[in-house]
Amino acid sequence: MTTVELMDYDEVLARFDPVLGLEVHVELSTNTKMFCGCPTGFGAEPNTQVCPTCLGLPGSLPVLNGTGVESAIRIGLALHCEIARWCRFARKNYFYPDMPKNFQTSQYDEPIAFNGYLDVTLDDGEIVRVEIERAHMEEDTGKSLHVGGATGRIHGAEHSLLDYNRAGVPLIEIVTKTITGTGARAPEVARAYVTALRDLLRALDVSDVRMDQGSLRCDANVSLMAKDATEFGTRTETKNVNSLRSVERAVRHEMTRQAAILADGGSILQETRHFEEAGGTTRAGRRKETSEDYRYFPEPDLAPIAPSREWVEELRLTLPELPAARRKRIQTEWRLSDLEMRDLVNAGAIDLVAATADAGAPPDEARSWWVSYLSQQANNRAVDLGELPITPAQVAKVIALVAAGTLTNKLAREVVDGVLAGEGEPEQVIESRGLKVVSDDSALYAAVDEALVAQPDVAAKIRDGKLAAAGAIVGAVMKATKGQADAKRVRELVLDRCQA
Ligand SMILES: [Zn+2]
Repeated sequence: MTTVELMDYDEVLARFDPVLGLEVHVELSTNTKMFCGCPTGFGAEPNTQVCPTCLGLPGSLPVLNGTGVESAIRIGLALHCEIARWCRFARKNYFYPDMPKNFQTSQYDEPIAFNGYLDVTLDDGEIVRVEIERAHMEEDTGKSLHVGGATGRIHGAEHSLLDYNRAGVPLIEIVTKTITGTGARAPEVARAYVTALRDLLRALDVSDVRMDQGSLRCDANVSLMAKDATEFGTRTETKNVNSLRSVERAVRHEMTRQAAILADGGSILQETRHFEEAGGTTRAGRRKETSEDYRYFPEPDLAPIAPSREWVEELRLTLPELPAARRKRIQTEWRLSDLEMRDLVNAGAIDLVAATADAGAPPDEARSWWVSYLSQQANNRAVDLGELPITPAQVAKVIALVAAGTLTNKLAREVVDGVLAGEGEPEQVIESRGLKVVSDDSALYAAVDEALVAQPDVAAKIRDGKLAAAGAIVGAVMKATKGQADAKRVRELVLDRCQA
């Protein structure tokens, strides 16, 4: 493997301005495919969700999925786009084994939605408006599986297998306008944009937006402009980056790679590149075709789409509260400072805290659990907060048990640890680990008496009115009860004993 020269990131920024363009493909969660009645579920046996239409057999004809169009319009509206009064599908002609029709049915110069924007919040709370060029409908391809090679790539493989279950699954491609002026924050803007788009699509309930399963995929176009240049540089397109973190890494890597080539007097090839998760690098794919190469022409087997304005307005009414508006409302309702809100957003905890509050917990305490203790646990396990094996309802239960005096904060953390370790519901963990607070006064009195006898000097001081000395006795009792007593109650009992 040849080593790739990279330029130091600060030097890149001193000499060049990064220019971004982001294309996101989202698989819609419709029950059936875009142009036939085949189911779309993920993970079925290969080639069990196919029919003559999605296999491109002679004589088969496409029928447009109405829900797919509806989702496309709702996505367009949520992105503040104009919705076309009339648009068509086109054929994008090329051969690839995973595409049995030899063309992809897609929208070309007549997208259903165009000219929108998405406001994107960066880690420090700054908002960047990313303009949307278009959102258009198309269909997914099948999948190739290359067998025998070391890396699952076609190179070195002995043979390839094809699975057409995904062929024809509805896709919406969302394309940004050129994003300039982001400077050092270009990689962060790219990640924040995909994050915001994912949250928006999730709120719309049009896709399961699983990047790990490919239902949300990002292609990142990156080019550099020398500081004194007046035209954009040549861009590369890094394909199918499949995690939010990878989006950021891929953009950063391309910036440092391209800068080194340009500084050395070289030129950038317009090509697709593939992100290598392990090293955080990209490798060359195919030379990029131009749109002329695809010989686009209008799809003759599908009628044009002319959404009536009434229908568009009806769909606008179905839009849920969108993430940005929801964040604003939550910040007001929960009386959070900008900093607290930022921590909440960065922890990816809004939905979890909201669900915990819905399950009956005070929002402040729900927030505290998710943003601090549970975030630490997620960090330790290197998973997203939402992937922790604990539900908002379970967290709400633990908070309620603390409020009822059944658990101290320390015991509550142990209960949460037990839930995370798969020991069952909070009540089961309390039972099996014996974590209940000792609330039986007679048991506590016994422990207090024992401690007073063991430390007669301290006991004498308390009896003389030096109440600060009570701390030593409380400490001894807490130790004797393994922390399972309410320290405040213990203190009351100590003072009670000493006054008698
Ligand atoms: Zn089919």
